[in-house]
Amino acid sequence: MNLHEFQGKSILKQYGVTVPEGIVAFTADEAVSAAKMLTEKTGTNWWVVKAQIHAGGRGKGGGVKLAKSLDEVSDLSKKILGMMLVTPQTKSEGKKVNKVLIQQDVYYPGPTPTSEFYMSVMLDRAMAQNMILYSPRGGMDIEAVAEETPDQIFKEYIDPKTGLQAFQCRRIAFNLGLTGDAWKAMLGFVNSLYNAFVAIDASLFEINPVLKTSDNKILAVDCKVVVDNNALYRHPEIANMRDLDEEDPMEVEAGHFGLNFVKLDGNIGCMVNGAGLAMATMDMIKLYGGEPANFLDVGGTANAKRVEEAFRIILKDPNVKAILVNIFGGIVRCDRVAQGVVDAYNNIGEINVPIIVRLQGTNAVEGKKLIDDSGLKVHSAILLQEAAELVKQVIAN
Ligand code: GDP
Ligand code: MN
Repeated sequence: MNLHEFQGKSILKQYGVTVPEGIVAFTADEAVSAAKMLTEKTGTNWWVVKAQIHAGGRGKGGGVKLAKSLDEVSDLSKKILGMMLVTPQTKSEGKKVNKVLIQQDVYYPGPTPTSEFYMSVMLDRAMAQNMILYSPRGGMDIEAVAEETPDQIFKEYIDPKTGLQAFQCRRIAFNLGLTGDAWKAMLGFVNSLYNAFVAIDASLFEINPVLKTSDNKILAVDCKVVVDNNALYRHPEIANMRDLDEEDPMEVEAGHFGLNFVKLDGNIGCMVNGAGLAMATMDMIKLYGGEPANFLDVGGTANAKRVEEAFRIILKDPNVKAILVNIFGGIVRCDRVAQGVVDAYNNIGEINVPIIVRLQGTNAVEGKKLIDDSGLKVHSAILLQEAAELVKQVIAN
C-alpha cells in the first residue's frame, strides 16, 4: 500500500527520522492557518506548498511551489488544490489533487551550502537482504544520475542476523562527503530510517532529497513509503491511512469481492483462476495480437457468485470488446464455473460483448456442453489457442 508524503513523514518522525515541520490542508484557508502555525512553531517566513498525490515527480509538474508570503500560500494552494497534476509518473490525464502539505522552507541560507542526497531502503530479492541505496547526487533527476554516472550510486546490504551496523552508517556518511555535525546527524538519520523500515514492514522507502541544511541538519524533505499489504494486519494505524481516492475504483470494488484485479489499457477482458494462469492468458492474448483490458484472478474457489461479480466489474470498462474466461478445473469443477457463466449471463441481462470460455481440467467436457446447450451467445473452446483464435475472430467481426 502506498502512503502520501505527509503520512510517511508522520511515521518517520515517530521513529526519530528528522523531517521538516508540515501540516496537511484541504482548502486555501486551512493552508494559510497551517502556514501561520508553522511560523509559530519554527519561526519560518517561507513555506512550500506540496500537492499530495500517490505519484512522484510533482516538482517537475508544478505540484511543489515555494511561497514567500501568506498571500502566496493562499494563491498557490488555490492553484494546486483541484488541479489535474501531470508528472512523469502519472497517466497523461494526470491525478486530481485533493490536499496539499504546507511545510516550513528548509532551504534557508546559512553558514554552509545545502546539499541534496538520495536514499532508499528496499529488499534486494536476489541477495535476500535489505539494501540501502544512496547517492550524493540527490534531487529531482536521480534516474539520470543512475544512467549517466552509475558510480555515484552506492549500496549497503544489511545482514538480517546482525542488523544495520554502526560502521555501515559511517561508510554511508563518508561516501556522501559529510563531516562534523552533518556527519554525526547522518549516522542517526540512517539508523532511524532503517529501524523505521523494519518496524513498519515497509517494502520501500525512497527519500529524495535527503537534505543537508545550511546549518548542518539532515532532513527527509520528501518521502515515498510503501507498506507490504500482507503485513498490514500488524499495523492497523497504517492500514487506516489507506486513501481510496488514489486508487482505481474498479480495483477497489474488485477487492471487496476477493478478486485480484488490475486495470489495464487493452480491450479484451480476462477472467482467470490463479495468478500464474492469468499471466499466461495475458501472454497468449498478446501473442495473438490482442491487448488485455485487465488482469483478473478470481481465486482458487471461484463459485457462480464470484464469476458473476467478476463479469460485472469487467463490463464496467467501456473499452472491453470481448471477454475471455480461462478456467482450469482443479479443486473447482468446470461444470460449476460454466453454470456460473450461464447464470451471470442471465442475471446481468444485457451483455453486448462476446464471451469466449475455455475450460480445462475436471469436468471440462460437461462444462463445455452446459455452455453449448444454453443457447447463449457464448463461444466455448477447450484449447487455449482455440480460445485466443476465437477472441481474435470475434474482435475482427
Ligand atoms: P517530487 O518532485 O514529487 O519528488 O517532490 P519533492 O518533495 O522532492 O520536491 C521537489 C523539489 O522541490 C525538491 O527536489 C526540492 O528541490 C524542492 N523543495 C522541496 N522542499 C523545499 C523547501 O522547503 N524549500 C525549497 N526552496 N525547495 C524545496
Ligand atoms: Mn522527491
